Amino acid sequence: MLKHGGLALGSLGTFSLPALSQAIQASSSPFKRPRLKITDVRTAQVSVHGPQTHVRIYTDAGLIGQGESTDAAVGSAALIRSFRRGLVGQDPLNVEALWERIRTSGVFAGAQGGQYTTALTGVEIALWDLAGKALGLPVYQLLGGKFRDKVRIYCDSGRDDVLTPESEKKIDWIKSQGFTAMKVDLDDAADPNRFDRVNWTANNAEIDRMVKWVEHVKGIIPASMDFACDMHGRYDAPTGKKVAKVLEPFRLLWLEEPVPPEDIDALVDIRHSTTTPICVGENIYMRWGYKEIFEKRAADIIMPDIQKTGGLAEAKKIADMSHAYEIPFAPHCVVSPIGQMASAHVCASIPNFLVCEWHWIDNLDTWKSFVQEGEIIQKGYITVTDKPGLGVEMNEEAAKKVQIPNTPWFEPGM
Ligand code: MG
Repeated sequence: MLKHGGLALGSLGTFSLPALSQAIQASSSPFKRPRLKITDVRTAQVSVHGPQTHVRIYTDAGLIGQGESTDAAVGSAALIRSFRRGLVGQDPLNVEALWERIRTSGVFAGAQGGQYTTALTGVEIALWDLAGKALGLPVYQLLGGKFRDKVRIYCDSGRDDVLTPESEKKIDWIKSQGFTAMKVDLDDAADPNRFDRVNWTANNAEIDRMVKWVEHVKGIIPASMDFACDMHGRYDAPTGKKVAKVLEPFRLLWLEEPVPPEDIDALVDIRHSTTTPICVGENIYMRWGYKEIFEKRAADIIMPDIQKTGGLAEAKKIADMSHAYEIPFAPHCVVSPIGQMASAHVCASIPNFLVCEWHWIDNLDTWKSFVQEGEIIQKGYITVTDKPGLGVEMNEEAAKKVQIPNTPWFEPGM
C-alpha cells in the first residue's frame, strides 16, 4: 500500500476520479501548497516584430502571471476572452489540466493550431509565471530543472539585401555583440531575376544570387560563427532541392523551410538529397503537428515557436519527442524579453537544445527598455534567472509605446 500525505492510494477502487483528485490536493496542504483562484484574464497587444499579445492572469491572492504569444496573435484577445469561462475560479497551479480543458473544448473551433493555439499559448505561459511566483521557484525548476545556466542565442539579421553597406554594418554589430550564430533570409520577392511574383520556382540567376549572399556573409563572419539561412517555406520542391545542394560547401548550421513545412514528403525528399541540414517548425503546432515529421525523419533540426506552438510544457514535450529521434531543438523566437526569457526557461530544461532565435535587431531601443530588468542577452547568451516565475517584468511605459492602436491595455472585461 502506497501512502501519500495520509491518503491511502491502495483504496483507489472506492474513489471516483474527481474525488481522488480533490483528496490528493487536500492531502498535500501540509507541504504549503498555495491556495489560489483565478479572478480575471486580461490582454494587451503590441506590434514590434509582427503582433504580440500579452496576457495577464489575476488571482485572489494578488499574484499576477504574465505570458506572451506572437504572429498568429491578431484576434487572440477575443479568443482569450472566450477562455475566461474555463479559467476564472480555477486553481492556476493545475497548468496542464487547464490547458487541456481549453484545448479540448475548442476542437470544433480551430484548437488544432493557428490563432486558437496561439491564444492558448499566451495563457499557458502566464499560468507558468503565476505558478512559479506562487511557489517561489523559477519556471525552469517547474519544468524539471536545468541542464545549463546559459542559453545560447542567435541573431536573426532581418530581411536585408546582405550586399549593402547597411547590412555589413549590421553584421559588424552582430559580431561585436558576441553572438556565436546568425541567420539571413534568402527568399526575396523583389529579386529582379524572378520572372513571376507568384510562382516560387527559382531560376538559376535567383539561385546564383542566393549563393552570392551566402558566400558574402561567410566571407565576413568568423569561421567559428554558425550561419543559418531561411527560405520561409515559399519555394517549390525542385528549387528547395537545388538550393540545399549548391549550399553544401558552406556547411550551414541549417537551411530553414526550403519548401512549405506541411509538405512532409517534399521535406523528406530534399533531406535525402543533400548534406545541408534542413530545419522546420515555426508554423507547426503542438506535439501532434510534429509526429509525422519525426516518424518520417523529415527534418535534421526542429524550430517550434514557443509563443505559438502551445506553450512551455508543450514545447518541452516536442523537445523530448525530438530527443528520441536525435533531432536538436532550436526554437523560433520573435518576441519581447518576456517571451524570450520564457523560451530560455524551456531551452535550459531540455538536453537537446541547440540555439534559440532573437529577432529584435531592428527594434533595439524597444528591446532594451521593454522589461524592468533591461538587456537580458549578454555576449550572445541569456542566463536563466533564479527569480520566481519567468523572472522578468514588463516596463509598462516602454511597452505602451508599441501598443496596437485601439486595442485594450489590460483593461478589465475586455
Ligand atoms: Mg523562419
